[in-house]
Amino acid sequence: MADSTSTTAERDGSLATPPDTDTIPTPAPAGSKVVYRSGEEIECWLTDMDGVLVHENHPIPGAPELIQRWVDTSRRFLVLTNNSIFTPRDLAARLRGSGLSIPEENIWTSALATAVFIKDQMPGARVYCIGEAGLTTALHEAGMILTDQDPDYVVLGETRTYSFNAITTAIRLIVDGARFIATNPDATGPSKEGVLPATGAIAALITKATGREPYTIGKPNPMMFRSAMNQIDAHSETTAMIGDRMDTDIVAGMEAGLHTVLVLSGITQQHDIQTFPFRPNQVVSSVAELLKQL
Ligand SMILES: [Mg+2]
Repeated sequence: MADSTSTTAERDGSLATPPDTDTIPTPAPAGSKVVYRSGEEIECWLTDMDGVLVHENHPIPGAPELIQRWVDTSRRFLVLTNNSIFTPRDLAARLRGSGLSIPEENIWTSALATAVFIKDQMPGARVYCIGEAGLTTALHEAGMILTDQDPDYVVLGETRTYSFNAITTAIRLIVDGARFIATNPDATGPSKEGVLPATGAIAALITKATGREPYTIGKPNPMMFRSAMNQIDAHSETTAMIGDRMDTDIVAGMEAGLHTVLVLSGITQQHDIQTFPFRPNQVVSSVAELLKQL
């Protein structure tokens, strides 16, 4: 604390002797590390789904138009979801049913990110999988062998019917040395009747029984964004991430070096932002407002 005065002066650039402006760049004003990138500078877009594009099976105003704009202008973009239940085709059909048309090739799930990750780490790996079509299809298409015999990995995803037998098998395989991966950390998912236990909750059960933590792929692991960017040949300097959660979308976007856009149409409200030790590059009320700026 004794040093706080000089530290503040240094930080503000308000030292007694002003720097030689011919040779030393003018000190950046406080907070200027958060660089605003205009719509033209951004070549590729990543966006969260729930709270940004859809809310309880209804499109958020501006979302259909934003997707259409990206399609019409041949922007490279991916809609990201931590949900590993559905294949992109199934998800595209469900979204179309609720009034939002997103091409299936523009959907990136934690199941796809998990499959890409394992393919990079161990091509042709043997995998014991707890999950639904979204995950099993992704693993199959990435060249994995799905088996309960001597697997290299146990991969846990979302299902609607967690089986005690399957969880028991997963626990025994992990105890015997299989590596443990979870598609996403979410403890609960939504349903009309109330919350549902999700991957993170079942992972906690398996961790308790085995003493082993999973490596978790979905947001907030920036791996989710890195794999998405690879998929569309995007680069962090010219890619933006739109999200409604500070603790997943924005922190992971920041850590992946992306331009981050927080929308206030989902979980985070304006007054919540200041409670986090990091902040987004840009805050908009919703994608309708963002669309006007593109
Ligand atoms: Mg969200």
